[in-house]
Amino acid sequence: MSQKFALILLVMLVLSACVGTQSMLVEDQPLKGINITIDPGHGATQAYDSFRIGQTGEREEWINLRVAKILSRKLTLAGANVLMTRTKDRDVSLGGRASMASGHHSDLFVSIHHNGSVNDPSIDLPIVYFHGSGDMNPASVDFAKILIDSMRAEMSFQQQRAGAVYSDHLIFSSGTSVLRNTIDDMPGVIGEGGFFTNPSGEGRLKSKAYNKLEAEIYYKAILEYFDRGIPSAMCLLPDSLEYIDLLRPIEFELDDGFGNTFFVENTFKVLQDGVPIQSNWDSNSGILTATPDSSLEKSVSFQVFARNLQGNAIHPIPFKFLTKAGYEWFIHEKWFEAFDEAEVLYSQVIQNNALHNLDSALHLYQLSLEIQIVHPKARIAEEKILALLIKKQALIEDDLSDAIEAQQFRIREYYPD
Ligand SMILES: [Zn+2]
Repeated sequence: MSQKFALILLVMLVLSACVGTQSMLVEDQPLKGINITIDPGHGATQAYDSFRIGQTGEREEWINLRVAKILSRKLTLAGANVLMTRTKDRDVSLGGRASMASGHHSDLFVSIHHNGSVNDPSIDLPIVYFHGSGDMNPASVDFAKILIDSMRAEMSFQQQRAGAVYSDHLIFSSGTSVLRNTIDDMPGVIGEGGFFTNPSGEGRLKSKAYNKLEAEIYYKAILEYFDRGIPSAMCLLPDSLEYIDLLRPIEFELDDGFGNTFFVENTFKVLQDGVPIQSNWDSNSGILTATPDSSLEKSVSFQVFARNLQGNAIHPIPFKFLTKAGYEWFIHEKWFEAFDEAEVLYSQVIQNNALHNLDSALHLYQLSLEIQIVHPKARIAEEKILALLIKKQALIEDDLSDAIEAQQFRIREYYPD
C-alpha cells in the first residue's frame, strides 16, 4: 500500500468515525437540555454520627455518594446538565444543597439516601419521599411512583412488597429541609434504596455491582419521567408589572411538554394563595383563564394544575405578585415619606370617612415605624394607628377590640408620658 493511499484511507476512517459518533450522540441524548440536581445525602459525619452505619461498618453517606456518582455519569452521557451537591465525603449544609439546586434551574431534584432503623434490624424496604401533600405536589409524586415501582421490581429487599411512596411530613411535621426549600422551583424526591442496618441489606449496599444496579434504576426512572413530557404553565402577565389588578382575569399559557395543548379533562385547577378560584380552559388557544378573588394581603400567589395525556402533572410553581396595598407598602424607603403620606390619607379618612384609605393609612404609619424604629414622630404614628383602629371598628361594625387594646397597651407601656 502506498503511503499516500494509506493516508487517504486513514483520513476517511477518522472522518467516518467522527460522523458516526456525532449521529450516535444526537440519538443517544434523550435528556439534552434538561437540568438535574443529584444530592448524595449527608457526608463527613463519621466523627460524630454513630447512627448512619451498618453492623460491619459501612456508612450511609459512602453508599449515597457511590450511587450518585454512577448515576451522574449516566445522566451526563444522556445529555443532561447534572449538578452534584457534593462529589466527595464532605458535609454540605441542607440550605446550601437547596440553593445550589435552585441556582442550577433544575427540572428535577433527586436526593439519594439509604435508611437505618435503631430498633429493628430486620427492616429492609425501599421508600421514596415527596414534600407535603400529594394534592399540592403532583409532579414529585408522579416521579416518586415511577421510581418506587422499579426499585421494588428490580432491587432486592427483605420486605420486597412493603416499599412505598410517602410524604416527608411523616419524618418532620414541616417536612424535610431540602425538599421544602426546592419545591417552589422544581419537583423533587428523597429516595431511600433499602436499609443499611439490615445485615443482608448492608451486604448488598456495600457491593459496587449493586450500587450500579441502583443507579441504573434511578436512571431509567428519570428517563421514563422525562419521556412523558414535562407540562408547564406560563403566566401571561409581564414581569415588569408593578402590582396585579385583582379585578381583571389572569391568563396562563399551558404546554403539555410536547409543544401541544393536550391535557386530561377535569384536571385543570388554579389556586390563589392555596384556595381554588374559578378558571376556564380553552383547548384551541391553550389558555387557562382564571378570575382572581379580592385580597387584603400585600402579595398574592397563583398555582396552576393540569395533567398531560402521558400522565405527567404540571409542577405548580407559584406565580407571585404584589397587590396594590403591597406595592404602596414596598415603594417607600424613607420613614418620613411613609409618615407624610399616611398623614394625608389620615385627614381624608377623618374628614370624609374614606374607608378605602383607612387600611393604606394604617399600613403607612406602621411602615414608618418599621423603616425607622422610634423616629421623631413615632408616638404620633402610634396614636394615629389607635385612632384609625377605633374609626375602622365604628365604620365596618366589626369587633377590633383585641387590636385596639393591644395598641392602647403599647402606647401606655412603651411611650410613657
Ligand atoms: Zn439519609
